[in-house]
Amino acid sequence: MAAETLHPARRGLMLILSSPSGAGKTTLTRNLKSENNLDLSISVTTRAKRPSEIEGVHYRFIDRAAFDAMRQHNDLLEWAEVHGNGYGTPRKEVEASLAAGRDVLFDIDWQGTQQIVKKARADVVTIFILPPSMAELRSRLIRRAEDAEDVIVKRLANARDEIARWSQYDYVIVNHDLQTAYEQIKAILTAERLKRSRAVGLNDFVDQLLTEQLP
Ligand code: 5GP
Repeated sequence: MAAETLHPARRGLMLILSSPSGAGKTTLTRNLKSENNLDLSISVTTRAKRPSEIEGVHYRFIDRAAFDAMRQHNDLLEWAEVHGNGYGTPRKEVEASLAAGRDVLFDIDWQGTQQIVKKARADVVTIFILPPSMAELRSRLIRRAEDAEDVIVKRLANARDEIARWSQYDYVIVNHDLQTAYEQIKAILTAERLKRSRAVGLNDFVDQLLTEQLP
């Protein structure tokens, strides 16, 4: 076999980003997905669609009955109630991506993160994104101008609970600047993809390397 074909196979990983609403995570996940060969897990949610959101791209918007049915049929890899709405990760798509050796990116809260970590610790990498200040978080929520005033107040209150979970994550990034935060996540992804434990074919690769006949 030609030496250049001996690339060891790699196990797909699950990269989870969590942060309070408005910390910049949505922009980061979109950029990461398009430039880093990742499958983005599209969640289902019972919350109302924001004007800028597209069905099937940002979420699959479903009603409470459909959400409860997915839960009951074990169709969700994890689920949680956030800001009074149901959110969940459809299991089928994620399992298909991982089975094909592809990495999957998640934009989910700390409750869902805990559930996935419990199921597959070795295949999960978790990153928490912090805003530079609470004042900045509030102005980002207001600037986004997609939520009503009372929703913003609720999201800010919830942000404190969410932030309190920071120490459960493998990595923590302070998003002072979107480009820097993006580069830092890319660096984490690159290093995690190269971890010895994820290169399932490495033993065979090294065996062949050591028995390779030199001309
Ligand atoms: P938003 O309504 O601002 O899009 O999201 C609110 C929160 O729900 C965010 O923290 C987001 O990460 C989280 N979230 C989105 N999808 C899911 C999901 O499928 N599962 C869980 N556990 N949280 C989710």
